[in-house]
Amino acid sequence: MSDDTGLGSVTPFFMQGGTEHFENGVHMLRLFANTCIVETENGVILFDVGLEINGPRIVEELRAITEKPVRYIVYGHGHADHAFGTQAILADAEARGHPRPVILAHENVVKRFDRYQEMLPYHEHINRIQFGIPENFPAFSRTYIYPDETFRDEMSFTVDETAFELRHARGETDDATWMWAPGLDTVCVSDLWVWSCPNVGNPFKVQRYALEWAEALEAVADISPGLMLPGHGAAIAGAEKVKDACLTVARALRFLDGQVVAMLNEGKWQEEILLSFDWPEEFAESPYLAPIYGHPYFIVQALLRQYHGWFDGNASHLFPSTGSEIAEEVLKLIGSPDRVLNRARALAREGKTQLALHLVDFVLDGGVEPRTDALEFKAECLNRIADEEKSFIARNIFLGGVRQIDKLLGRE
Ligand SMILES: [Zn+2]
Repeated sequence: MSDDTGLGSVTPFFMQGGTEHFENGVHMLRLFANTCIVETENGVILFDVGLEINGPRIVEELRAITEKPVRYIVYGHGHADHAFGTQAILADAEARGHPRPVILAHENVVKRFDRYQEMLPYHEHINRIQFGIPENFPAFSRTYIYPDETFRDEMSFTVDETAFELRHARGETDDATWMWAPGLDTVCVSDLWVWSCPNVGNPFKVQRYALEWAEALEAVADISPGLMLPGHGAAIAGAEKVKDACLTVARALRFLDGQVVAMLNEGKWQEEILLSFDWPEEFAESPYLAPIYGHPYFIVQALLRQYHGWFDGNASHLFPSTGSEIAEEVLKLIGSPDRVLNRARALAREGKTQLALHLVDFVLDGGVEPRTDALEFKAECLNRIADEEKSFIARNIFLGGVRQIDKLLGRE
């Protein structure tokens, strides 16, 4: 199927992939997120069902493999890219005269779906920025198909003598499930493992759980599966490799957690902790931890938020003046916004683009008239930083800043 959403041209994250086939009737369809397809003698189990727009593609790929009825759909967690392709699958079951598949998920998926619907415009807004979605495309799901059965800690079921064990974990979300099929030596882990530095501390999203994420990956490593199907990206085959993949990520999360806890105990504040945490080569160079989506800096932010409130240690910042009040005072003292802008340009030429951004913000926040030259220079700085940034989320935030400026300048 061609990428008729048009999103493929916007971001590689919407790339349409193919299906990987493994032994024992295990398959994995790779779209934006993965869908695990497990065939039993007379039925099919689907673990994660992708984005709403990818539902029809999942049905198409599934039906190229087998005509068997889908018995269970398991939501690995309730994110938009994992639990929303359901409608097309239910429609396919109905059209074929199959019984309706039973949808299983952790109990917090229900709360998540309630929250998403209550705060739909908000989620549209933040996801549009996070994923760089153009204005003319919907940025969030509108159709919610709730689980039929939920569980709290563990749940198991059997289809045609194949046993499936569902286990709850907290990691990227508080509603995560990983599925172990001992007879198939296969584990489906959804976003507990994704070929990226774990997405703890996403700049837009609610609290995520670094230490419990590590525990979940250690539990997966403990059972030593021969095949791991992750939430995004290629499968990992071989018990040793699966173990190494899980334990490397777990070790990195524990390492950051330990540092934040130690530094908080030493009385350090947010800025100092963010400046001084260590991310050793072992992690920086691991293909399992590439900062292409999550980022170690974001993880430290999440740990700070988990263990500490929002006070940054400076009493001046408790009930602060507005940024523009402060900028106006500083600009008045300097006497000329041009001097500030010139200094910002000099810093950018020296490669200190981030520092240049702070200076140009004084001109933009404290100036009476919006200055086109300052806006254009800020866009230039943001584009330059985005070019060098590996994290998809961070890059989209920088480019979102450029889009805002384009709008202000009437160029969009
Ligand atoms: Zn995902």
